[in-house]
Amino acid sequence: MSELNVVSISKAQIPAEPFIARHLIDGDWRSSTDGAVFERVSPSHGTVVTRACKGGTADVDAAVFAARQAFDKGRWSRTSGKDRATFLLKIADLIDRERDRIAFLETLESGKPISQARAEIEGASDIWRYAASLARTQHGESYNSLGSDMLGLVLKEPVGVVSIITPWNFPFLIVSQKVPFALAAGCTAVIKPSEMTPATTVVLGELCLEAGLPAGVVNIVLGYGDPVGAAMTADKRVDMVTFTGSTGVGKAIVKAASGTLKKVSLELGGKNPQVIFPDADLESAVDAVVFGVYFNAGECCNSGSRIIVHEDIAEDFLARTVTLSRQVPFGDPLDPSTKVGAIITPEHQKKIDKYVRDAAKSGADVRLGGGPLAVPGLTGHFYQPTVVSGVRSDMPIAREEVFGPVLSVLTFKTLEEAIELVNDAEYGLSAGVWSENVHTCLEFARRAHAGTVWTNTWMDGFAELPFGGVKESGQGRELGKYGLEEFLEAKTVTMRIGRTRAPWVDPRAA
Ligand code: NDP
Repeated sequence: MSELNVVSISKAQIPAEPFIARHLIDGDWRSSTDGAVFERVSPSHGTVVTRACKGGTADVDAAVFAARQAFDKGRWSRTSGKDRATFLLKIADLIDRERDRIAFLETLESGKPISQARAEIEGASDIWRYAASLARTQHGESYNSLGSDMLGLVLKEPVGVVSIITPWNFPFLIVSQKVPFALAAGCTAVIKPSEMTPATTVVLGELCLEAGLPAGVVNIVLGYGDPVGAAMTADKRVDMVTFTGSTGVGKAIVKAASGTLKKVSLELGGKNPQVIFPDADLESAVDAVVFGVYFNAGECCNSGSRIIVHEDIAEDFLARTVTLSRQVPFGDPLDPSTKVGAIITPEHQKKIDKYVRDAAKSGADVRLGGGPLAVPGLTGHFYQPTVVSGVRSDMPIAREEVFGPVLSVLTFKTLEEAIELVNDAEYGLSAGVWSENVHTCLEFARRAHAGTVWTNTWMDGFAELPFGGVKESGQGRELGKYGLEEFLEAKTVTMRIGRTRAPWVDPRAA
């Protein structure tokens, strides 16, 4: 493996004792009703890094009760936008203060590089600040045009109690794409992080308490999708579920939520294409492709795992991509120079490997990687940077979320063909185009079936800009003004001014 850039074990110390994670219910840290616990082993270092309470339906029941009470008693829902903004800003400051601790826990549990984790925590506090600005500036509508005797108001009200279910790939960032917007709207919440990455959500709970958030406004139940996530979805006292994770579980959530017709917002997978035209700035495009596919070890809903490159430049582009891929530092996530860390579980690593092997069996060409990566000094699971060319659009590697550092390369001849390939997908999360011709970029942006289109860049995100997918990539939006709207209901208030209404039945006429 000497031709790859492998970072061996760093000098950073793994804590001698695991992080202890408990449920946060009604302002108290609690053990599970039945005393059950589970452990998280670091995917890169092979040691137990977290010991967490394993929740059951009784714990969900208590958390939902607390959130319902807090909402109905108006402890949060009736506070002013100014007060909500003050809390959100305070929490953002506390996140900044705890940045290194949160990033370290995130790296231990997820295997992601420490430098990346720090940047994510900084991004998260920025989102909390942005949501604070929305808490103060949100408003409804007034209609002064309904006639001299009528006035119409549209009030924006919080949806109510929200169940927030998050995955393991960006635990702190994703919870921060949901909770501050729910709080800005005036909702109360029950949160369940992935059982693989509970620690940083627990730290967020600590910070909410330190900021003085009233008891019951934010509750956390740790444990598995079944029974915790399922109970949080089906409970009739919950008004909305917001979920990020796999499309399969997203569909199960829609079914479970249909029993009470609660609102559902879903952030699901993607098989995100980047199309490279011959007139593109190829150096920038190669760098963005390499970043897009290896960032977070490819365990990313926005992974740019499918590139569609013009045939005239395909061989050159592929050669440059392979050369740059070899230079990406893979290895110990605790080393600040590492760009790609461990794969979340050994089972997931096997799943990634199977996609590559099956593609090779179906005639695709593995140009780089295609197997586990040995990192000197570490017992965890790592996967080689992998580039697969000669991929056809009917192969699973071209259609499904591999969720690993694996790039599929397809080719095209015309813009029409490229757009057909882009849209020939069950997913529609994001898409990218590389060309120096603004007309090509705009035509692509308008015709690609995707929630986000990047032109001459990849994966730039801002708190101001909404994020979400079409087709099987989800429903609803996070971030931006739209991210707040998800947590609001519209209430119409129609007011008559004076006694001007003609009677429906006139007793004098009878
Ligand atoms: P899941 O979709 O299973 O997990 C996401 C969250 O949902 C976790 O907190 C999980 O709990 C919870 N959950 C699981 N089942 C239910 C249920 N029936 N009701 C409510 N909540 C539930 O993702 P995985 O972790 O299993 O990953 C599998 C695949 O999903 C990946 O290989 C990848 O393709 C995709 N994925 C996509 C993500 C994205 O950002 N779009 C993020 C993560 C995964 P727990 O896991 O603790 O049991």
